[in-house]
Amino acid sequence: MAFGFFKKSDKTEKKETPAGPHYHNLVVKQVVQETKDAISIVFEQPEKRFVYKAGQFLTLIATVAGKEVRRAYSLNSSPISDSDLSVTVKRVDGGLMSNWLPDNIKAGSSIKVMEPMGHFTTEFNKANKRHLVMFAGGSGITPMMSIIKTTLVEEPESICSLVYANRDIDSIIFKNTFDQLQTKYEGRLHVIHVLDNAPVNWQGHSGLLNHDMLSKILERIPDWGIGNTTYLMCGPEGMMKNVQTLLEARQIPTDKIFKESFVQGTIDKETKK
Ligand SMILES: Cc1cc2nc3c(=O)[nH]c(=O)nc-3n(C[C@H](O)[C@H](O)[C@H](O)COP(=O)(O)OP(=O)(O)OC[C@H]3O[C@@H](n4cnc5c(N)ncnc54)[C@H](O)[C@@H]3O)c2cc1C
Repeated sequence: MAFGFFKKSDKTEKKETPAGPHYHNLVVKQVVQETKDAISIVFEQPEKRFVYKAGQFLTLIATVAGKEVRRAYSLNSSPISDSDLSVTVKRVDGGLMSNWLPDNIKAGSSIKVMEPMGHFTTEFNKANKRHLVMFAGGSGITPMMSIIKTTLVEEPESICSLVYANRDIDSIIFKNTFDQLQTKYEGRLHVIHVLDNAPVNWQGHSGLLNHDMLSKILERIPDWGIGNTTYLMCGPEGMMKNVQTLLEARQIPTDKIFKESFVQGTIDKETKK
């Protein structure tokens, strides 16, 4: 098959053994302040290295306010080009884990995690020649970062176009890394920033990522044809709905559209006193 597809695959699905999922303690190598309200937590690979696919997530487990809290965080590291594991956590107002982590975790800390899992991934193949068109909002950039870094190295003939929406210039996670990647892989990575509140000298798009804005942006993205293009999205539900509606209006088949939702039901267990 010439093209890989983002789909459920036996290879990426972690089957829980009768004893339950596999838990590990990972040691924090470094905490990086990415923006005012987002940090990256870089973990050392455990002795038996985690094998994962670009786009998958780790589940972090901690006791917060007397409860055992488990939250998923997509790996932004690439299994191909990064030796460490890295996740990025953005504070959510009133959120348990997303505030506990930046307030408590530092280099040398140990965190309980579950092995990488998730289906928002693809089979990479040197022979692939495809265009990944990605839409990310805020912290939704994390799985895209992993997929972009992996694609640029693993698929020399594929290209990535990323539409990346943020509140303002200071809240853009990985801005410098994307600038560097665009220079290094000239012509193969195209990042289009969209800001809700842009500074006066801003050269990019500003305003909400609504239907009109998305249509305007899609006109500027190279057209590789439906067969060679895959659409990926991860971000606030409203943004993903707008993207989905636009792609459907453009008759993009649903099997070419892949979503990662960061919203999930959570039941936090009271820990025994
Ligand atoms: C597959 C997957 C991957 C994820 N990857 C990342 C990642 O890479 N980086 C990251 O920062 N987060 C990521 N998340 C979200 C993360 O798991 C947590 O949901 C988030 O950090 C909030 O947890 P909390 O304990 O702080 O908030 P909670 O205490 O669970 O919630 C507090 C309040 O915030 C609301 N809320 C919960 N999550 C969000 C959200 N994402 N945005 C806005 N409001 C929210 C809740 O509805 C609630 O009202 C991912 C989620 C999933 C399912």
